[in-house]
Amino acid sequence: MLGVPTPTPAPEPTLATARLPVARLAVTEALARMATNDDEVRARHAYGRAYPDLVRAFSGDFSAAPDLVLFPEHTADVITALEWAEREGVTIVPYGGGTSVVGGVEAPRARPIATLSLSRMGRVLEVDAVTRAARIEAGAMGPDLERQLAPHGLTLRHFPQSFEFSTLGGWLATRAGGHYATLMTHVDELVEAVTMVTPRGVYATRRLPASGAGPSPERLVLGSEGILGVITEAWMRVVPRPRFRASAALHFPSFREACDAARAVAQAGLHPANCRVLDEMEARLNFVADDGSALLLLGFESADHPVTHAIERAVALAVAEGGACPRGVTIKDDGARGGDAAAERWRQAFFDGPYLQSALVTMGFVVDTFETACTWAALPRLDAEIREAVGAAMKRELGGGLLTCRFTHVYPDGPAPYYTWLAPPAPGRQIEAWSAVKRAASDAISRAGGTITHHHAVGRTHRPWYDRERPDAFALALGGAKRALDPAGVLNPGVLID
Ligand SMILES: Cc1cc2nc3c(=O)[nH]c(=O)nc-3n(C[C@H](O)[C@H](O)[C@H](O)COP(=O)(O)OP(=O)(O)OC[C@H]3O[C@@H](n4cnc5c(N)ncnc54)[C@H](O)[C@@H]3O)c2cc1C
Repeated sequence: MLGVPTPTPAPEPTLATARLPVARLAVTEALARMATNDDEVRARHAYGRAYPDLVRAFSGDFSAAPDLVLFPEHTADVITALEWAEREGVTIVPYGGGTSVVGGVEAPRARPIATLSLSRMGRVLEVDAVTRAARIEAGAMGPDLERQLAPHGLTLRHFPQSFEFSTLGGWLATRAGGHYATLMTHVDELVEAVTMVTPRGVYATRRLPASGAGPSPERLVLGSEGILGVITEAWMRVVPRPRFRASAALHFPSFREACDAARAVAQAGLHPANCRVLDEMEARLNFVADDGSALLLLGFESADHPVTHAIERAVALAVAEGGACPRGVTIKDDGARGGDAAAERWRQAFFDGPYLQSALVTMGFVVDTFETACTWAALPRLDAEIREAVGAAMKRELGGGLLTCRFTHVYPDGPAPYYTWLAPPAPGRQIEAWSAVKRAASDAISRAGGTITHHHAVGRTHRPWYDRERPDAFALALGGAKRALDPAGVLNPGVLID
């Protein structure tokens, strides 16, 4: 489709070929139990998973490797590590699974850098079955967290696409978006209480279902991206596993009609678990439909009651907007997984996508995604601006390429559109070309009134657009919080604020 022959993949880097700077920090006695400056461990913590990270890592360039990696096992270890960093003037980068796509785990090299990995703090510590909440350590990775909840018949029901390799602490620090299209879209809604270790003490909020007592203390932690403290654990709201499921795939002549149908469903108070619009190219590239139609994939689920009525109403609304439902509705009231065939093909492509991106990167292709959210009223202009700007930038920088769009989430007042772009190889100038396209996309989003991120976070990459988007007075308040909690500025410099 790109009109170029399939290139040969480059070989994977090995430790022998990896280039990384000499470690500037030694393992002192005080840190001996939890620290290492082993080259392989440092290389593995050098980058997140953004496109430029993959390009540099595959080429053996690990120049961003930290000087030391710390593996605390308890909150007390985190306190020790922060005290040491403050004393020694060392930058601390909190690190969950390292799936940041916004430069969140790559600090400037002006000062020595210690990456603090939560990977040894991954336990489910307590389950309160009456309240339906679980106390979980921040380093728990998605699959392991779910494995520990399963014997209780419970699930956190938070499935970002990076689920396999990302952690609870990372989700909280970045306000991650899960797979479900409505209601509990961001992980924020699942937090009952959270504990964060700051250089000025432990910040632990009270377990409450809700509170109107002033600004929410949890909210300062959520989305703090490692600049205010290290999140060590949280009480999370958990739910029984769903038993009742229903799904359907609607075909539309164009993206615009599929968007209208998604809006009708989102505004009807139905709360589907899946309400995913795929434009024509997205449907084709993911093997969901190849008849040139745009799709709306609908899914409902519940642990408590059949969802037949909800899916039938949603399908009726979509049909009224011009949709066709050739395979009808699939109902599963027996706890069985699976649904409509198109939705299943989509689910598989969704989890395979990141592996495919890595494979394409080894072949030199320039391929990435970006995402936003906007009001329904702003959508037509935003989509048009993005398609024009990104199309022109790909043509200029890379000779052309493909751009696709889907919705990851829908709200009554607007969708979260998610774009994937794929362009031919640009040997030797992949990162430069990627930067130009990324800039064009981000400028277009900003111009058309979208947010620079619905769920990928700000990190370092999105800073210029985030700085324009947030109120100046808010930046002052955030700066005040930073100065109060981390006066020496050891935590993740350059993320969110200067
Ligand atoms: C293939 C792929 C798919 C993705 N899909 C999604 C998606 O569906 N939804 C979504 O929201 N995001 C997605 N992302 C982005 C990323 O996975 C999320 O931002 C995720 O929440 C990061 O979690 P992590 O544990 O990997 O954190 P990391 O990448 O290790 O860290 C992310 C940021 O949080 C900070 N941090 C991490 N742990 C802590 C802690 N315990 N305390 C304080 N700060 C901490 C870090 O310093 C950094 O700034 C995707 C990324 C990839 C590569």
